This record gives sequence, C-alpha cells and structure tokens, in this order.
Amino acid sequence: MQSFNPPIRTLMGPGPSDIHPRVLQAMARPTIGHLDPAFIGMMDEVKELLKYAFQTKNELTMPVSAPGSAGMETCFVNLVEPGDKVIVCINGVFGNRMKENIERFGGQAVVVADDWGTAVTPAKLEAACAAHPDAKIVAFVHAETSTGACSDVKTLCEIARKYDCLSIVDAVTSLGGVELRVDEWGVDAIYSGTQKCLSCVPGISPISFSEKALDKVRNRKTKVPSWFLDLNLVMGYWAGGQKRAYHHTAPVNTLYALHESLIMLKDEGLENAWQRHAQLHQELKSGLESMGIRFVVPESQRLPQLNSVWIPDGVKDAEVRAQLLNEYNLEIGAGLGDFAGKVWRIGLMGQSCRKEKVLFCLAALQAVLPH
Ligand SMILES: *Cc1c(COP(=O)(O)O)cnc(C)c1O
Repeated sequence: MQSFNPPIRTLMGPGPSDIHPRVLQAMARPTIGHLDPAFIGMMDEVKELLKYAFQTKNELTMPVSAPGSAGMETCFVNLVEPGDKVIVCINGVFGNRMKENIERFGGQAVVVADDWGTAVTPAKLEAACAAHPDAKIVAFVHAETSTGACSDVKTLCEIARKYDCLSIVDAVTSLGGVELRVDEWGVDAIYSGTQKCLSCVPGISPISFSEKALDKVRNRKTKVPSWFLDLNLVMGYWAGGQKRAYHHTAPVNTLYALHESLIMLKDEGLENAWQRHAQLHQELKSGLESMGIRFVVPESQRLPQLNSVWIPDGVKDAEVRAQLLNEYNLEIGAGLGDFAGKVWRIGLMGQSCRKEKVLFCLAALQAVLPH
C-alpha cells in the first residue's frame, strides 16, 4: 500500500463542494492542544464568524464536532421530549430524516406532506398547527437537497410562533448560498453543514439556538438521551474564554479549515455570496435549457445552489455520470429516493459556484449527451 492520492475532481453534486486551497492549507497547519489558549481564541472567533453567517446574536452558536446529520440530531435530541407532538414538513429525503429523529426520541410526529420538487406550503402548516394546538415544535428543511426546492423560512417560522411552537430549521445546504436571517426571521434552532455552500471539508455542523429554545433544553423533565450531543454539557465546552471545561476533543485541524472558510465568506460578504449563487444559477439554467434540459422545481421555488433536472429521454443515467467522472473529472449528483434514475442534481455550492465551473459543466454535458 502507498499514500492515498485522490484524483483532482470538480465537485458539482449535492456536496461535498470544491474547497479553496486556502482552506486546505489552513487544515495542514500544526495541531495544537484543544485547551491551548491559542486554540481557545480561535474557537471564540469561529463562534463570532458563525453568528455572522447565520445573522444571529444567539449566544449558543457553535460548531458540533460531527457532520450535518449530527447537527440535525442535536436539535431533535435536545428539544424533543417523550410524548411531545412535533409537526414536521416533508417534501423530500431530509424531511423524512427529521421524522425519523422525532420518533426515535419518543416524539409524536404530525406530517405535513408536499410533493417532491415543491416548497413546503405555508397554508398546510397553518392547518396542521390549528388542528394540533398541543404541538410544541415545527420542523422543516430550508433547502431540500434531494429535490432543489427552497421553502419560505420567514413565513413558516411566523406560523410556528403564532401557534406557540419552537421552530427547528435544516439549513445544511442553504447557509452561505441563499438568504437566511436567523434573528430577523425568528428561527429557534438551526443546523447546517460545512461541506455545502461554506465549501469547507465535511465533518462539522454549525448550530444556533435561541434563548427560548435553550430554556426548553435547560428545563427538560428527562435527561437528553445522548451524552455526546447533550447541549447542557457541550455548552460548557464551547462557553467563552477560559471557562472551557473538557467534554470531548474538538477536531482541531478541521476547525482551522472552518475558520478559514468563514473568513473567506466574511471577506466576500454574505450578501455578495448569495448574489453570486443566484447569478451563476441563471447562467447554468440558460445553458441547460438551450440543450433542451428541463428543471424539476417550479422557477419561483428553485434553489440556485442545487439544480435538479430531469434526465433527458433515452439517456443512460449511470453511464453519463461515469463518463463525466472518468473523462472530465466532473462529479454531478444522482437522484435520491423517489428521484433515483430520473433526476440529476447539479450543485453550485460555495467554491463550485464559479463562472469557469459553470461553463466547464455545460461543455462537458454537451460533449457526452447524444445529439
Ligand atoms: C447534506 C445534508 C444533510 C446531512 O449532512 P451530512 O453532513 O451529510 O451529515 C442534512 N440535511 C440536508 C438538507 C443536507 O443537504
């Protein structure tokens, strides 16, 4: 066996996305102790930078030391108590995973279903809230990566608040790619991932909890059934400054990478990053449509960073994707769940959302598709 040298790909699927050399170089810097004052200073900066990315002043804004799925689990394991009724909006794979979380932690899931490829319908959520006045939480996905649909966080959180429910929002694919304002929109608990629009290495999940959500965590009748994800304990580790108490060993070098990618986001400006995703989506869309390729999601509900398109008739899904990978070192995403074999998912996330990559992707598709 020898050292592993991965091929150099262009990643235009549902994540991970391409990573800037600055972020990879940050990761290669010397490992220091996770309670070293120098590291603690960097952790505090990561929290500040995450507050900017989420547009929040929430004190509990921090990176969970595990991928996006662990951020999801952190929200549900801390906020759902046995017997709690939780309204969950499902319009793709990740809404289904939320339901799985609710049920595993003893909650009772009330499902608000929308078709795959469409956003969550606010009126359906409102009807469910009215029909279940004892519900305590509303959960939904902002950017449904399995379909490319974008739901209206502001409106859905308003409905949750009106019915006295906490909101849990999945922002794994939305953070850094489309407008998201945690405080202004009144989100109570939110989680994201590093490997999508933040263009960092996989393995970290930024989260943010409002005071209202934290009250619920602090006043639970039962212990959080996960030791590792129990925020009552984790908060002591991520508390500011020298008060930090050992909980687990943070992934030191991965956090260097996150720090660097968040600095890059701050330097670009959050709103400029949103705009870049929107603009290049338009370029990709024009190119795809000129090849006769059709989008899955209605135009007003589309995510710029995740473009789901119907695989053209007579085109062999796996063969085309293999050809793109082998001949062009280009990865695009396959369909997931109900969309397997029917849909491709072309990601324009973070560093993958650059003009030259859009042009490259269009040229490669043009070359491999039958004329
Ligand atoms: C990718 C993704 C996740 C899971 O994140 P991992 O880092 O793969 O664990 C959760 N929700 C959505 C919407 C995602 O796109």
